[in-house]
Amino acid sequence: MTTYRALWVTEEPQFKQQVIRRDLDELPAGEVLVRVHYSSLNYKDALSATGNRGVTRNFPHTPGIDAAGVVEHSTAEGFVPGDEVIVTGYDLGMNTYGGLADYIRVPASWLIKRPAGLSLREAMILGTAGFTAGLCVYKLVRAGLQTGDGDVLVTGATGGVGSVAVKLLSQLGYRVVAATGKADQIPFLQELGAAEVIDRAELGEGTDRPMLKSRWAAAVDTVGGDVLFNVVKSLNYGGSVACCGLTAGTHFNGNVFPFILRGANLLGVDSVELPLVAKASMWDMLSLQWKMDLEPLVDEISLEDTPQAIARILAGHQKGRVLVNVI
Ligand code: NDP
Repeated sequence: MTTYRALWVTEEPQFKQQVIRRDLDELPAGEVLVRVHYSSLNYKDALSATGNRGVTRNFPHTPGIDAAGVVEHSTAEGFVPGDEVIVTGYDLGMNTYGGLADYIRVPASWLIKRPAGLSLREAMILGTAGFTAGLCVYKLVRAGLQTGDGDVLVTGATGGVGSVAVKLLSQLGYRVVAATGKADQIPFLQELGAAEVIDRAELGEGTDRPMLKSRWAAAVDTVGGDVLFNVVKSLNYGGSVACCGLTAGTHFNGNVFPFILRGANLLGVDSVELPLVAKASMWDMLSLQWKMDLEPLVDEISLEDTPQAIARILAGHQKGRVLVNVI
């Protein structure tokens, strides 16, 4: 095998994505060659695939911040051909050719051995988005959130991070309120376990007020911007919000009142540069105590289908997780 398939993004002058064959020799230097079985699509992949320089500086490029597959060749201690591995984050798919391809070549320090409780397919249904949902919930629980504390809000609820957060929180016994812009997806969110679904527009009201009525015991916020500010202002006393996303904006216009009057906690979540040992322990949680039935939220596609799926993500029309079958 000297060539492999890859989603190839070129700039000519419009950004264009197509699946073509490339030479294996063109993969970057690295210790471990992995035959990818599954990848997934995340918001960040859609940005990389359409030329966002904040994600990917140089083109042509192969996006894909997630990959799960089997080691084919390794010069690193601890990995041998046949090992099943997962990579999420670090530089994969950003400025290193990513998982939307038959093969990746990466440093061993990015690899996690597949935990026994998850198949490679299940790991990529979760992917970075599901993994991040897990981190958000973990941070809320560590900050003291208990079932019975009240409503837990999830914003961007039909998205990748949001849908897994709804599923996980409801499975753990929390009363989940899902905020969405997709009125037609209420049944989908209820099936995932949302006790209540609200229109995302509701969370944009009251930006000019210093505080809002207490409403949420906690929140997983995947959208940022004014929504995040309003969520912070409407946390219950001692409540926490896990902040991980920016689909509604990167700005945050805060004031100190929620923090000094209600003891609110704003918890930052990063899945990319998290040390490998912490990543491995979150994957273990997701494979055991927090194992979920993920089938209701998966949309499985082939590598050839990825350009259309990327357009759906950017238009805000995708729901749940997009699994890319690369076998
Ligand atoms: P998706 O595209 O799958 O979901 C985003 C969701 O946000 C949409 O489905 C929609 O949900 C909602 N949304 C879209 N546009 C707007 C808008 N203008 N205002 C309010 N809500 C909007 O993305 P992901 O779930 O993959 O990622 C979500 C966010 O989290 C992204 O910003 C991503 O970059 C970030 N992220 C961060 C990580 C980290 O490590 N910190 C890791 C992974 C993701 P609905 O229609 O239901 O409202």
